[in-house]
Amino acid sequence: MPNSTREVDVCIVGGGPAGMVLGLLLAQQGMKTLVLERHRNFDREFRGEVLMPRFVQMFRQIGLFDFLEKYPHLKLNNLEIIFKNWHLAKFQIAKIAPEAPFALWMPQPILLGALYDKGKTLPNFDLWFNASAQDLIEENGTVTGVQVELNGKMVEVRSRITVGTDGRASMVRRAGGFETESESHNFDVMWFAIPRPEGYEQTVRAFLSTGINYLILPKYPDLLQCGLIVPKGEMIRFKEKGIESLRKALFKAYAILHPFAAELKDFSHFNVLQARMSFVKRWAKNGCLLVGDSAHTCSPAGAIGVSVAVGSAIVAADVIRKALKANDVSAEFLDQVQRIRGMEVREIQKMQKEVTDGLIFAPRAYKWLVPFLFYLFAKTPLLRQFQRKLLVMKEPLPIDQSLQSLHF
Ligand SMILES: Cc1cc2nc3c(=O)[nH]c(=O)nc-3n(C[C@H](O)[C@H](O)[C@H](O)COP(=O)(O)OP(=O)(O)OC[C@H]3O[C@@H](n4cnc5c(N)ncnc54)[C@H](O)[C@@H]3O)c2cc1C
Repeated sequence: MPNSTREVDVCIVGGGPAGMVLGLLLAQQGMKTLVLERHRNFDREFRGEVLMPRFVQMFRQIGLFDFLEKYPHLKLNNLEIIFKNWHLAKFQIAKIAPEAPFALWMPQPILLGALYDKGKTLPNFDLWFNASAQDLIEENGTVTGVQVELNGKMVEVRSRITVGTDGRASMVRRAGGFETESESHNFDVMWFAIPRPEGYEQTVRAFLSTGINYLILPKYPDLLQCGLIVPKGEMIRFKEKGIESLRKALFKAYAILHPFAAELKDFSHFNVLQARMSFVKRWAKNGCLLVGDSAHTCSPAGAIGVSVAVGSAIVAADVIRKALKANDVSAEFLDQVQRIRGMEVREIQKMQKEVTDGLIFAPRAYKWLVPFLFYLFAKTPLLRQFQRKLLVMKEPLPIDQSLQSLHF
């Protein structure tokens, strides 16, 4: 039996980027909104820290960019692809995306903390930490709320619409019986951080090799974040073989990693990201909607997971406002979010698959050929077009004017 009940217009399960943006937009438009976050705070590492021009464009569209820019961040200007010591290609983000000429490095605790600071100024916004949604409440085929464990006690939240922004392992998706249309897990990224040498440029670098491919990115405030792109489950194999095997792999990499390799004693420095992609067949049920990674998890290729999740959250804010106004919370009404976003998300996932299949996981026999083909490809306008499609929004999100002129 629940200890108490709370009533709101919209209950959002999950205080990640999608849930926080959705919560702010709904509360700002006058809907009573409660965000549930199972953790005690926003502390998390190696999660969605690079925010590509798409994100900047969206935040400008909803009027939140100038506010966010006041929080600590780095601006990244260049992308480079290197094979051995050969610079295959160097791209200026300003040339790919003149309308938003940089990527932001903003750790998620800072991003989410900033959004929460804004939420605290809105009377209709509420967020509960240490609130783990356990199950959905359903009546006559419509979701009407969630059972929540709040600080160890059961609470019932009643809501006109319940949104699952609870990420790739979504409870709402599971409890609501949403069907997954496609799912894949092709590789893992083993992340770790090292000190950033003085004068290191604001450049994201991808290193291709005939062995392990890897990424090195400036990390706020003074580190480099490095990611080894490995077949799925490789960390377990490294652990079976012992730390020496990983040290050897690192010594084959760029010299900047060698001091870290020399000091390496155990696996505690590594954080494994499983590169999963998934797409839920139908994102809506009566009274319930999946938004962000819970509906469509993207691969890490292009570092656009946050942008894609937030894009769906902004569109969802528009659709939910209209649904509540029309007093129609049916799946058919809420389907509008998928109708607007589904096609673009599928295209993005397809491009991400092409990047990883072609560039990173080419068959062994072709590994030497890939850099040469890429070098030639980079000389054509096709690459710029591909990058724009992945990193830049073609046009503003199709949302009501009222959402674009919110005064935060
Ligand atoms: C290691 C890693 C690195 C990444 N790097 C990048 C990057 O550089 N750039 C980029 O754009 N994307 C990146 N991504 C992807 C990006 O983090 C996600 O696409 C994005 O965070 C999705 O946002 P979301 O709000 O949908 O879900 P999430 O960020 O996953 O948020 C879900 C939230 O729901 C909470 N939650 C879950 N279950 C419950 C429950 N039952 N009750 C209450 N709360 C719950 C979780 O604690 C979490 O806070 C990365 C992902 C990972 C895993």
